[in-house]
Amino acid sequence: MIITLKKGTSESQVESLKELLRSKNIEPRVWKGELETVIGCVGDIAHLDPGLIEALDVVEHVQRIQEPYKAANRKFHPADSVVDCGGVPVGGGRFAVIAGPCSVESETQIVEVARAVKAAGATLLRGGAFKPRTSPYAFQGLGAEGLRLLTLAKKETGLPIVTELMEFKDIELFNDVDVIQIGARNMQNFNLLKEVGAYTKKPVLLKRGMSATLQELLMSAEYIMASGNPNVILCERGIRTFETALRNTLDLGVVTVLHRLSHLPVVVDPSHATGYAYMVDSVAVAATAIGADGLIIEVHNDPPRAKCDGAQSQTPEMFTRTMARIRRVREVL
Ligand code: PEP
Ligand code: MN
Repeated sequence: MIITLKKGTSESQVESLKELLRSKNIEPRVWKGELETVIGCVGDIAHLDPGLIEALDVVEHVQRIQEPYKAANRKFHPADSVVDCGGVPVGGGRFAVIAGPCSVESETQIVEVARAVKAAGATLLRGGAFKPRTSPYAFQGLGAEGLRLLTLAKKETGLPIVTELMEFKDIELFNDVDVIQIGARNMQNFNLLKEVGAYTKKPVLLKRGMSATLQELLMSAEYIMASGNPNVILCERGIRTFETALRNTLDLGVVTVLHRLSHLPVVVDPSHATGYAYMVDSVAVAATAIGADGLIIEVHNDPPRAKCDGAQSQTPEMFTRTMARIRRVREVL
């Protein structure tokens, strides 16, 4: 339910309405625009009589929300959300490029790549320390040591860091991490979503599950937000289809749909979406053109020897060229 207030409603009137809602076990989310103030109601509204609310002096009108996601719904928050990622704003016209290797492999590797992507214009550094791998025999990531090396690269370059959390028990190691990535394989790990949402207000980069609908993605964002953390960034990284020419299938129209349904920033991952370095440039440019709020791109200093996702990793030279093209598209837009 969304309550739109009459123009000229005072602070204290807003406060007493919030009190009334809380007394009915509803969590009020206030959004103040230039022209109107709306209160989104989160919680079980079954016992809330819309007629009773509409009858209040300060209320312009009451609207029921059909969608099961509330806090993530654009109707609750008409303006774009801007998420602060360690000092880098993302969303609402602020465009971010997150770049770095799939996984952190060594000090030389991460520092070298961090320097290169920074020089090319990336605004955040990525690198996996805990890796969800299909095979138990594949490189599983350096774990805590990987996080230490990422922190080192952050000190060297000043780039805030984005890295994946697979299990809540590791969160205490994430103090220096600026953005917590929840990967495609964990998008519906509801306990992890709830625990992360309740524990921290650090931004969460939530990747779409490989067979998840957009509604399911938004419901997963809702879990994090309903637990107390509003700082969610959605990430489209392609889904599984019958097509085998690409690693996944990317529908860029998703960016437009998500912007219509939700106020949360939407980032596109052209690396996992395609699986091949030769495609990353054109897909990154297209994602920028369609209005994504940012990109997450895998870059490796020596892709043939990468321990993970080498085939889809750009070299620093390729990434530099892509960044130049992205800038030109942004200028045109
Ligand atoms: C990754 O970012 O390296 C990754 C594992 O991505 P996804 O969860 O989208 O597969
Ligand atoms: Mn990867």
